[in-house]
Amino acid sequence: MPDRPITTYPQRPLAVRPSDPRAVTVAARVDALVRARRPDLAVVHIGSSAVPDLPGKGVVDLGIHPPPDTDLAALRDLLADLGFQRTTGAAAFPDSRPLFIGGLEEGGEVLPIHLHVIPDAGEWHRQIVFRDQLRADADLRARYIAVKEDAVGTAPSGLQYSFRKTAFIRGALDAAGAAEPPILPGSTIGILGGGQLGRMLALAAHAMGYRITILDPDPACPAAAVADEQIVGRYDDVAAALRLADRSDVVTYELEHVSAEAVRAVDNVRPIRPGLFTLLMTQDRLAERRFLADLGVPTAEWREVRSREELVAGAKALGFPLRLKASVGGYDGRSQVRIEGAGEVDAAWTALAPRAVDGLLLERELAFEQEISVVVARDLAGRNAPYPVVRNRHDAGILVESIAPAPGPRTMVPQAFALADRIATALDAVGVVTIEMFQLPGAQLAVNELAPRVHNSGHWTLEGARTSQFEQHIRAICGLPLGSVEMTAQGAAMVNLLGSGPERTARVLGAEVALRDPAASVHLYDKRRVFERRKMGHVTVVADSTGEALRRARTAAAAIMWADEP
Ligand code: ADP
Ligand code: MG
Repeated sequence: MPDRPITTYPQRPLAVRPSDPRAVTVAARVDALVRARRPDLAVVHIGSSAVPDLPGKGVVDLGIHPPPDTDLAALRDLLADLGFQRTTGAAAFPDSRPLFIGGLEEGGEVLPIHLHVIPDAGEWHRQIVFRDQLRADADLRARYIAVKEDAVGTAPSGLQYSFRKTAFIRGALDAAGAAEPPILPGSTIGILGGGQLGRMLALAAHAMGYRITILDPDPACPAAAVADEQIVGRYDDVAAALRLADRSDVVTYELEHVSAEAVRAVDNVRPIRPGLFTLLMTQDRLAERRFLADLGVPTAEWREVRSREELVAGAKALGFPLRLKASVGGYDGRSQVRIEGAGEVDAAWTALAPRAVDGLLLERELAFEQEISVVVARDLAGRNAPYPVVRNRHDAGILVESIAPAPGPRTMVPQAFALADRIATALDAVGVVTIEMFQLPGAQLAVNELAPRVHNSGHWTLEGARTSQFEQHIRAICGLPLGSVEMTAQGAAMVNLLGSGPERTARVLGAEVALRDPAASVHLYDKRRVFERRKMGHVTVVADSTGEALRRARTAAAAIMWADEP
């Protein structure tokens, strides 16, 4: 029986603990244990516990940077022989960059250990640079402690703790000239999802010389024709997502309804951006509301509802009219109902009861002056670049048209930008995220929902801004400098082309009429089937004023129709 000096990992509650000098001894002992069997391998003390006087989670982080020709299987066996365990499941670190956990008794207590095997020279370098920066710079240590304490104080989970830290570390590495290298043209970008957003992302990426692989269940999805390669698979197929990651240098998603498990699995092998944390905070309306409440961001008053009784009680507490929304899976106004008065509560419950297992969001319907949104890009170093604020008009929950810049009270834009800045930063997003808001009478703003991606209300940027939201997203996720968000004219408008009539094969008519206006651009998504209110394309116009742009965009859009024959 092999000697197993490493014991199981001791679970301890998340807290910022004072620096523990025993961590240094534990690191040295593990190094000696490994070297006794493999004199060519060093175990290096990394992370917070390797910095004297730096408080942290109290986990002893250790790293092995094996030489390029190392037999990783043999190394994994050696660590298992010592008693280390691998984390398992879809979200586990891969064989190529394994994480081992364990514990070692020192001074009367078993200290938890994370042992990272890091073959990638760049990742290893950044680990060491950040540790050494912390050792050398008292001011950086103080700021890091503040971030950690803040994250623990407000965090709903340990997850937020680690994600708040990553943003800080990226900033520090950037300042030290050790930023992650950019992912350059010629590289491959993987996109989870192949709808119109994926299509327009792929077009922008191709224009810059990137290759595109998409994952989508439909071989005829809008992005299929413009991708270099498609993996046909569902958004919750972890193995398919890992195949996508394997073929990509960086991965992004074009919809929030991809499975968190798939994104978590990809996160261990490739950069996935805007990021796992961003996705988790925005794919579930209830998680999103808790996140916004933690941040102190105003929203409509809301309640979580899981039963008919809770709905009745919530309605009583909030007052009518109300909106009841499924927490996951809704879009374009689907999976939500309006409750005008007490007489409609039962019908609302019946409609959404099947979705109540995941929790429902019950909220006040707000009497807003207008709906606005901010599309904001955030780069790897944490700089935010918001596009001009957009006014959006919805019809029964689906976006019909947008104009930029949005008219409104003088204080609106600075307020909206401040909210967008705070939210994008707290989400630790890398890439484009969108914040939908209501402007209430008296210029107050309330956030309606967040999208961890490019957005329909940003389509006007294709012609109306110097850098489109799609190119901007590609730049951000590849670690390139962001482009200008300035408008190309005084006003821009976007009108959606929605399907009408029964479901049938899509054949578009009238583009030649729409394009008689030389300022009109027609974008079609190549959807094979059309049905009532399906998003089929959009028209943009840039002009000397938003009024003129909107009038001309409406005229052009009205010329587009769908042929009747099946
Ligand atoms: P989706 O994910 O389908 O876009 P939203 O929550 O954004 O869902 O709702 C769609 C639209 O319904 C909003 O853009 C807005 O027009 C209207 N709406 C949703 N919630 C409210 C509310 N609390 N008050 C007023 N209007 C609302
Ligand atoms: Mg919405």
